[in-house]
Amino acid sequence: MSDARTPLNLLDRTPAAARAAVAAWIASQELPRYRADQIVRRLWTAPVADWADATELPAALRAGLARDFPLARLAESVVQRSADGTVKYLFRLADGEAIESVLIPSGTRRTLCISSQAGCALKCAFCATGTMGFRRNLSAFEIAGQVREIILRDPADKPTNVVFMGMGEPLLNWPAVDTALTILNDPAGLGIGARRITVSTVGILPGMTEFARRPEQFRLAISLHAPTSPQRLAIMPVEKKYALDDVLKAAEAFRKRVTFEYVMIGGVNDADTDADHLAKLARRLGALVNILPLHPGGAPGLAPTRAPRIRAFAERLRHQGIEATVRRSRGLDINAACGQLRVEVEKNRRRDATAARTGAAEAIAEAIEVVPAHEVEVE
Ligand code: SAH
Repeated sequence: MSDARTPLNLLDRTPAAARAAVAAWIASQELPRYRADQIVRRLWTAPVADWADATELPAALRAGLARDFPLARLAESVVQRSADGTVKYLFRLADGEAIESVLIPSGTRRTLCISSQAGCALKCAFCATGTMGFRRNLSAFEIAGQVREIILRDPADKPTNVVFMGMGEPLLNWPAVDTALTILNDPAGLGIGARRITVSTVGILPGMTEFARRPEQFRLAISLHAPTSPQRLAIMPVEKKYALDDVLKAAEAFRKRVTFEYVMIGGVNDADTDADHLAKLARRLGALVNILPLHPGGAPGLAPTRAPRIRAFAERLRHQGIEATVRRSRGLDINAACGQLRVEVEKNRRRDATAARTGAAEAIAEAIEVVPAHEVEVE
């Protein structure tokens, strides 16, 4: 009896698995089989916020879908728009956790930076997300749903590129990230090309092995941030568990081109000798180097490297044959760095309960900091 069914979240499954569940349901209801594709199309390809909006389906069918397969949403709690077009979303999850996504337009490209966990266990010295600690893993729906929410708001905003560079460590949440990657890439899902989807990791070895098994041309970015193990240990505790050299070996085994991310921190990793070490590592892997200016928000006691030094560092890499790009900071007038918005909202909540009640947007407005973050543009 369909009344006894537990509602199933189709958005938490790959499009193929969702289709199988829908097909079985269709059969049990003695409905025509072609309805299955019409229904699955409304999950990701031409998403609806509510089954009631799928007006190509008969009303009784829509009511049945709403009962047995209710469509989950991520509640938008704060949106910040930067003058440069960057938009930052804070989504509130069903259990009250909050996660961030950042949409970064650049020419015809719209890159969405998504979260894979609420909080993060890694405690990198420069990262705002680390300061809140690990809260929980996101489900596949909560990950891919960040893209779905953007499309529901405005289909013209559909991201062309997706990067796992929001909150959390994607390779510590592999089962959900695995399913989310399928949803993002599958033509029956969001249909975003694998080369336009980048997973960013500190170098979780078991996760790197799993990720390497995927046959698609997904991109891998490694948050390197230091060219030697002792230097890396000083800013990234994960170095104790997964040492730089092992991470590089795992990256070598990865058949696809990798990118190194390198946050420049004054006096910590920005010397000429650091550039020379880094050039050696990048050459060994044929890696591109993405240089990111440090956002000081999440990094008490650390100073960003000054612009002329960043330029000299990048030049030194290029002279050694390394492809290096310096990311231009985006979302400078909003809290567009990793974990920054949620941290600010919670700080202001504590400080001002009224602001939290009224949606925290006002509190955000007064707590604005200078924030470089998920910069996408070349120097
Ligand atoms: N855990 C994954 C993905 C999330 S962080 C990873 O570490 O790769 C995405 C990128 O933002 C990482 O390269 C991270 O080091 C960087 N980042 C974090 N805090 C930053 C800050 N304050 N300034 C600049 N980049 C930062």
